[in-house]
Amino acid sequence: MGVCPSATMSLLRDNFTGALRPWARPEVLTCTPWGAPIIWDGTFDPDVAKQEARQQNLTIGLTVFAVGRYLEKYLERFLETAEQHFMAGQSVVYYVFTERPEAVSRVALGPERRLRVERVERERRWQDVSMARMRTLHAALSGRLVREAHFVFCMDVDQHFSSTFGPEALGESVAQLHSWHYHWPRWLLPFERNAHSAAKMARGEGDFYYHAAVFGGSVAALRGLTAHCARGLAWDRARGLEARWHDESHLNKFFWLHKPAKVLSPEFCWSPDLGRRTEIRRPRLLWAPKEYRLLRD
Ligand code: UDP
Ligand code: MN
Repeated sequence: MGVCPSATMSLLRDNFTGALRPWARPEVLTCTPWGAPIIWDGTFDPDVAKQEARQQNLTIGLTVFAVGRYLEKYLERFLETAEQHFMAGQSVVYYVFTERPEAVSRVALGPERRLRVERVERERRWQDVSMARMRTLHAALSGRLVREAHFVFCMDVDQHFSSTFGPEALGESVAQLHSWHYHWPRWLLPFERNAHSAAKMARGEGDFYYHAAVFGGSVAALRGLTAHCARGLAWDRARGLEARWHDESHLNKFFWLHKPAKVLSPEFCWSPDLGRRTEIRRPRLLWAPKEYRLLRD
């Protein structure tokens, strides 16, 4: 059933780039049970991925929300390091969503790279800011992004790039393994367990626990993902419920029902608090330390 061992698949047809070398990392899981590659450092050829993306003349979107104090605190570094490491050499459009477009600093952009700033309402609670992203993204993915981007990544702003995050990460739908949970047994994973929530997962359900700080895919796939999550969030709200990890709980439900075509190892979004681990060779994004008391409400 697995498609992982193949070395010649094309980015658009089969949703991943480059020659894959899953055998280069025998100590980690490099293929999901449904045959999607799990991308670890060394399991792909970044140059093949780059070339293939160039040949297909792709435009890649990167969406990020910076509302309230998150704007001053994180946005500039996120964008500056994205200029160094995110899809270098490709055509990229950043979409920044904020309630204060005028406060977004002018980051110097390379050729073929654009920045669009979109105004959003500021929600009162931080949980609502986080959850409202799904609805806003869905609207954006049904409008401008259809015309402007082939593939899109949606990311949290409280992190920065520390190494190459290139076209090897592209796919029809892409999920990020959560760095806290990738080695936990399934029954311990923090899925939503409330039977009344749209995000509910029964014991024994769930493949991996995915991190909502990074997800991606084609515009069409992401439209489906954001519609599902926005619907689930509205369903819960109408019943006075809030899933344990907010939008992330609904994202996990979505990827349980609709398996991602590609999975990124925790190297792609690593928490420095976890220290060094031999299997984490080259982190590509690093979480900022959590400073919730300073930033929230
Ligand atoms: N966010 C924001 N302002 C807020 C709360 C959240 O801009 O007041 C955005 C921001 O992009 C942030 C994301 O929503 O990275 C998710 O929130 P957070 O990072 O605080 O959640 P955590 O990663 O701790 O679960
Ligand atoms: Mn975050």
